[in-house]
Amino acid sequence: MINRELAAEVKTLMPSRERETDRNSPVSMWNEMDRLRGKPEPTTVVIFRTRGCSWYDFSSCSMCGYFNDVNTNVGVGNLKTQIDKAYDFMENTKILKIFTSGSFLDRREVPKEAFDYFMKRMSDKVEKILVESRTEYVTEKTMEEMKSYGIDTRIAIGVESSNDYVVKNMVNKGTNFSKFVKAAKVLQKSDIELRSYLLLKPPFMPEEEAVLDSIKSVRDCAPYSTDISVNPMNIQKNTLVEKLWKRGEYRPPWLWSVARVLLETQDVQADVLSYPTGGDRERGSHNDDHDRELVNIIFKASLSQDFGELQEYYDRGDKRKYFSHLANESRIPVQYDLDSFIRKISAGSVKI
Ligand code: SF4
Repeated sequence: MINRELAAEVKTLMPSRERETDRNSPVSMWNEMDRLRGKPEPTTVVIFRTRGCSWYDFSSCSMCGYFNDVNTNVGVGNLKTQIDKAYDFMENTKILKIFTSGSFLDRREVPKEAFDYFMKRMSDKVEKILVESRTEYVTEKTMEEMKSYGIDTRIAIGVESSNDYVVKNMVNKGTNFSKFVKAAKVLQKSDIELRSYLLLKPPFMPEEEAVLDSIKSVRDCAPYSTDISVNPMNIQKNTLVEKLWKRGEYRPPWLWSVARVLLETQDVQADVLSYPTGGDRERGSHNDDHDRELVNIIFKASLSQDFGELQEYYDRGDKRKYFSHLANESRIPVQYDLDSFIRKISAGSVKI
């Protein structure tokens, strides 16, 4: 389940989690659209500052830079103040997504007292909630505790891939697919919805293989999931992926690849969606030429679950550069980013 060399390398890149950040304010709060009740609705997103993911004590996932936001000194009192601020921030929305740079259900990260305070405080305002968790914290006990507050809930789990080799040797997640299935069955038994996150294009994997891996993973997760969010890689600070990217050895996936995964999994039972973070930017999923329109169409299709416009855009798009990149990439052992490499040479930061 763990590739110790990879885990150690990722660990060396992580900055200290002891830092002077405001313990009484969430990392960030904003409103966006999502479809947690079967239709697009305004949704509030809050990122609470916590001590962070339990996996950080040992290592981190190769793409995860959420440790940049944590503070090991956040206590229950700080969390309660953050919760009050989140409560006041919610004005015209009834749907809330909570991120914590870790697992909301991990009692070391969000102690029971803060969890109870949160659920009680939000119960008069929130009609639907999504929280994230690693599989190990999804237990019958935690689900009973969630349900006791009567807020309709969806739990989001980062599966990343249903292929254990990928999760172990590319994502460094410290888990596997059977643990996901076990957690998903607990959710099914508790009648709680599940959003499965998949990572499109982990490091050390050519783009074509990454597309096929995501398509297969969607199919493997679908029987357990209400919806599946296909998350194309975005480059976060101090991560292994950023190190590779800076050396020109990793390129985030093309938007055409995101479109392909969405279009080729239309037949599964669960909703399949993608909201590409950093889409059309260098650190996020992008095509060779700027294509903001495609990002917008992907968002729109994900929200409406009507993929007609995306299919039409894909069919008429000029994908020659994309397929030529895929063919070249599968012939060499690294995922080159020729444009970035050339820019670095021009800027003189790479000597040849
Ligand atoms: S489990 Fe989630 S929060 Fe923890 S290191 Fe991995 S991606 Fe980051």
